[in-house]
Formats: sequence, C-alpha cells, structure tokens
Amino acid sequence: MPETYALYAIKYATHDRTVALNFLEPPDPHDTPMPIDYFVWAAVSAEHTFVIDTGFNAATAERRGRTLIRCPSEGLAAIGIDAAAVESVIITHFHYDHVGNFDLFPKATYHLQDAEMAFATGRHMCDPDTQVPFEVEDVVGMVRQVYNGQVRFHDGDTELAPGLSLHHIGGHTAGLQAVRVLTARGWVMVASDACHLYANMETHNPYPIIFDLDDMFAGYDTLKRLADSHDHIVPGHDPQVMDRYPAVSDQLANIAIRLDVEPSI
Ligand SMILES: [Zn+2]
Repeated sequence: MPETYALYAIKYATHDRTVALNFLEPPDPHDTPMPIDYFVWAAVSAEHTFVIDTGFNAATAERRGRTLIRCPSEGLAAIGIDAAAVESVIITHFHYDHVGNFDLFPKATYHLQDAEMAFATGRHMCDPDTQVPFEVEDVVGMVRQVYNGQVRFHDGDTELAPGLSLHHIGGHTAGLQAVRVLTARGWVMVASDACHLYANMETHNPYPIIFDLDDMFAGYDTLKRLADSHDHIVPGHDPQVMDRYPAVSDQLANIAIRLDVEPSI
C-alpha cells in the first residue's frame, strides 16, 4: 500500500527583483517588480521523513544579495523536524539556493541524479556563465558527502518509498529532478526549478537560466502528466504558493504551509 504524506513548503528567503529576471522573454516592457521566494520542502508519513533541498546560509545570502528570513533548519524545526536527525534528503539540483548547509544535516543520505553531479563537476562548469548559480563550496561539499558514504545516486526515475518518487527532468540544469508525493488530496509534484513560477508554465515562457530548452518544455509536460491536476504542481519560487495554501498554524503564517491540503485560490 502506498503511504500518504503530509507535505510542507517552508519559506526561508526572498529576493526583490523585477519581472525581466524571471522570464526568457520579458513579458512586461515596464519591468515591474516581481519578487521570488526561496523554499525547502518536507514530506512526512508515518514511516518516513524526506527533506527536499537544504537552502543557503547567511554568508551566501549576504554575498548574493538575497534576504535570508531564517535558517532553513529553523523552519524545519517549526514543523517538528530536527535537521540534525534527518536521514533522507533529496537534492533537486546543485544551484546555490537548493544545496548546501551540510553541517545542519549530519545524518543525512543525499539523493541525487547522476547527471547533476556530472554536470556540476564536469566540462560545462568551464563556462563562467553556467557557473554563476553554483557555489563551488556546495559542489565540493557534496563530493565530500560521496566520500563519507552519504550519497545515493539515481539515474532517472526512482521510487524512494511507496508514495514518493524522483523524476529526472533536466532543462534548468542537466540533472534537475522533481519529486512526486502521494498526499490525502492525490499526487502532488514538487516541481522545484522544473517550474520556478506558475506563470512560466502557464505562459510557456521559462525562467531564463536554461541548460536545455527542449528538456525544460518537456519537463512542463512531465509535471502535468505526473500531477493529478494543475493545482497539484508546486513551483519552486513563486510567492503565490504562500497565498494559495493554508499555513500549518496561525503562528506559522508566512513561514510554513500545507501542500497536502487543497489550495484556496
Ligand atoms: Zn532555485
């Protein structure tokens, strides 16, 4: 029997920016404000806890001009997850806002796509533009986890547990993976950066950091195929996610929301 999961998004950072940074073809000549949020996610069943992505730290936020609201581990603690005890972490891809903070997860096994490690440590990183969203210390940190015995590599789609599977999408990075989670409302796709914003997919106008455009568009189709409906796709950076889903509790408004509950809008 597949397990059903409680599924959470935890907002940990934000960035004020304008619309031009969020689309391959800027849709608005006036370049109006369009901030993005940064999340980690968690899927929790009676048997398993999976943390999806680990976020950046204060030093990286400072260096890159992002606003860190709270350490991702504090957000996880607010929903009852002790990062220091977490055994399973899924890394969707190696961009600075999704991987790192290794010191906070000493017991974790990291689930990665082969293609992402090859991408982040291989010939494509000779291109300075491709390097920009990567932090070399995060990439080297993951290599250290390999040598520590704390990485499980996956090549394509994999079921990690009944009701939770990884899906290699590519597009944004070579080895980007999304996570399919069975919840009380059906199958939800944690898209991560397979879809940054609702509008990227709705207007077929992707976020402009792209390794392979064909794979990016194919990824939108994959998300739609694997999710129970459009409302079961959770984009990786859209502030609207915080508005559409209920907070875990009144105290956690604007901090942690439930994705296993139907969205209100
Ligand atoms: Zn991202």
